[in-house]
Amino acid sequence: MTSRTVLVTGGNRGIGRAIAQAFLDAGHRVAITSRDGSGPEGPLAVAADVTDSASVDAAFTRIEAELGPVEVVVANAGITRDTLLMRMSEQDFVDVVDTNLTGAFRVVQRASKGMLRAKWGRVVLISSVVGLYGGPGQVNYAASKAGLVGIARSITRELGARGITANVVAPGFIETDMTAELDDATQAEYKKAIPAGRYATPEEVAAVVRWIAGDEAAYISGAVIPVDGGLGMGH
Ligand code: NDP
Repeated sequence: MTSRTVLVTGGNRGIGRAIAQAFLDAGHRVAITSRDGSGPEGPLAVAADVTDSASVDAAFTRIEAELGPVEVVVANAGITRDTLLMRMSEQDFVDVVDTNLTGAFRVVQRASKGMLRAKWGRVVLISSVVGLYGGPGQVNYAASKAGLVGIARSITRELGARGITANVVAPGFIETDMTAELDDATQAEYKKAIPAGRYATPEEVAAVVRWIAGDEAAYISGAVIPVDGGLGMGH
């Protein structure tokens, strides 16, 4: 296995933290970002706000200096601002898209410079089953997550011949802070709809991300890989 420099945005907690740990466990050099620059023991923690391209650029510059050019980028940072369409403010829509979709663009565009030079790279975009399945109260979130598919497929067509792959991993419901916020009745209802009958652990998502970023997955690009217990079948 070749040891790579990996960046996981939002790798300080939740799914991102599990993804960072999976790469560390496999012997890679791992950097994570959080907004305040703090993070768990293990990876290099740098501050970055994905809504600010100067902040993203500064984070990359530091990672490049300490760990070398980013070869695997996992755009994981994301937020929700759920509310029904009729009540959703334009700001709720714009903020979620700016973080989840434009934020991924800022990070991936910056990463692509080094990948093109190296003629090797892995772009992994963390979407959601909601991106293609939809979700009541999630017009903003679903739009941002569906947009990631367009990014991955366009990068695949643009950079596929340069040793770079771009894929989307679409988790279903995962045990994290994001889902802990849902009330008990909603949680029970969701579990009934999931063929697997349970939420996934962050580690189950992390294992798929690590695999899609590896040498073995070199011929997979532009794919949407569900990790959703069967919830989104038929996408
Ligand atoms: P958490 O809410 O636990 O963590 C969100 C992460 O995103 C944090 O690290 C946070 O950083 C970071 N973040 C938020 N806004 C910004 C910003 N403007 N700039 C930089 N970083 C930011 O999320 P999860 O672990 O639950 O989710 C991770 C990803 O997986 C998200 O993209 C989410 O949409 C997706 N997902 C989650 C599912 C779930 O069930 N939990 C299901 C499907 C997809 P900070 O700590 O600094 O706030």
